[in-house]
Amino acid sequence: MAKRPERVVLATTEAVPFAKAGGLADVTSALASALARLDLDVTLLLPAYPFIEREGGRFTPVCSRPLEVALGRRTERFRLHRGELPGTPVEVVLIEHDAFFGRLGIYQDEKTGAEYADAAARYAFLSRAILAALPALGPPPDILQLNDHHTALAAAYRLLGPPAQVQALAPTGVLLGIHNLGYQGIYDAEHFHLTGLPESWMQPPGALEFWGRMNFMKVGIVHADVVTTVSPTYAREIQQSERYGHGLQGVLQKRGDDLCGILNGIDVDTWDPARDLHLPAHYDVDHLAGKAVCKRALQQRCGLDPEPELPLFGLIGRLVDQKGIDVLLAAATDLLSLPIQLAVLGKGQHEYEERLLALSRARPGRVAVRIGFDEELAHWIEAACDFYLMPSRYEPCGLNQMYSLRYGTVPVARRTGGLADTVHDCAADAQIGNGFLYGPHSAEALLDAVRRALVTFQSPDQMQRLIRTGMSADFSWDASARRYLHVYRRALQKRPKQPGLRIERGGTVTPAAEGGIDTGARIRKIRADFERE
Ligand code: ADP
Repeated sequence: MAKRPERVVLATTEAVPFAKAGGLADVTSALASALARLDLDVTLLLPAYPFIEREGGRFTPVCSRPLEVALGRRTERFRLHRGELPGTPVEVVLIEHDAFFGRLGIYQDEKTGAEYADAAARYAFLSRAILAALPALGPPPDILQLNDHHTALAAAYRLLGPPAQVQALAPTGVLLGIHNLGYQGIYDAEHFHLTGLPESWMQPPGALEFWGRMNFMKVGIVHADVVTTVSPTYAREIQQSERYGHGLQGVLQKRGDDLCGILNGIDVDTWDPARDLHLPAHYDVDHLAGKAVCKRALQQRCGLDPEPELPLFGLIGRLVDQKGIDVLLAAATDLLSLPIQLAVLGKGQHEYEERLLALSRARPGRVAVRIGFDEELAHWIEAACDFYLMPSRYEPCGLNQMYSLRYGTVPVARRTGGLADTVHDCAADAQIGNGFLYGPHSAEALLDAVRRALVTFQSPDQMQRLIRTGMSADFSWDASARRYLHVYRRALQKRPKQPGLRIERGGTVTPAAEGGIDTGARIRKIRADFERE
């Protein structure tokens, strides 16, 4: 068994409370603090966006001079700033490069909603900067955890980078965490020169090549020592079919032995109906009166009819295809012929925003729709609703169903990914049943599940049982963090025995470790690729 890892660096583009576009932000910070509770020395590494407050001694510069990395023919300079994750011993290091990250949108232009045109350059830079930053932050970490495609190229650069860097990282196991395979970092081949990767990687079946374009996630999957994703069911689904693997199912299958699904936890301090700072009233599993107060307050706030007995359904999230908003809209007319109210909060695809708003105008008092990102309203909806809808096309893990269960709000969800691992259908098993699950991604199947939920709503005893089962579940991060620790050990075992290769000018490749014995099949494969070139 490999040694217990002591120092972990988590590289990410999002981490609460600094930068959030979705679940990745919650996950990286919560995992970092849970690992710190297990006595690991943890550093979070992320870009220095302009909206992160750095004044007032929150962050201090790490070195007096800027660091440098190559990007195509250019040299990019960046600075590091060190601070901490509030209320934890987790170190936070910001990578400051204003030309790439001094923007208000994390991934997209705030005005147009389009992904930044220089996305490939931003993430190639970020992946290089992560590795170049490590020596300035202390001894090499035992584990470097990359998260999603934005940082995935670092899994290759640590094998191919400058010899001193490759050597320095020899003790480090590299893990790629996949949070959503629907976003892979696919870019036109015209930006290939920025990556600095060997040209053979752009020829099938090269690690970067994907139908004539570049795929950054693929590089991470091929070259990380281990790959994790955020639920056991999603780990299986992404190897099985195009629908979930989005074209990478074959590549994932090949890494099947090193691919592991670990369910995300949730932040049980922030998301606690007994203490939630956002809520108009509090409650717990034995004192539920506050939940009715929250329902009344939300109805009032959103202009819904003040009907305590009308079952209220909620939905919060990105209004995109993945979340099944098309199915919800297809079911809307039939759904609203049932005696229910609906509260929706989210933003995303313009068409969905417009159609949802039209629905709320057509059904005032019954449907409330808020377009935007509103943390407080999200907490109110979780607390106020009787049921929570998740008609997801696919769902790597999903957080809202876990928040819902904790808030006594019964999920009605499609059986996929993390939903299948956390929501248990009450018809299938009354003991562990905590919600309603359905299979096909269709309006009919969603409607059937809602109808079943309404029947249960008529029976206070059954409803109470579901609420209690959900509220009693433990979704804290501690169990998940222990599983990560286990996978980190595996990453240490799987890391290449011979640390890397050096690319000489002109394409000659030599082992980075002079006299090292090459025992890694992966390294042999990379070398063969080079030699073919
Ligand atoms: P994903 O990461 O696919 O967007 P998750 O369910 O894993 O979905 O996590 C989404 C997180 O973002 C949850 O914490 C959810 O409450 C929050 N969220 C999403 N959209 C909004 C919004 N419009 N307002 C407030 N919170 C939101």
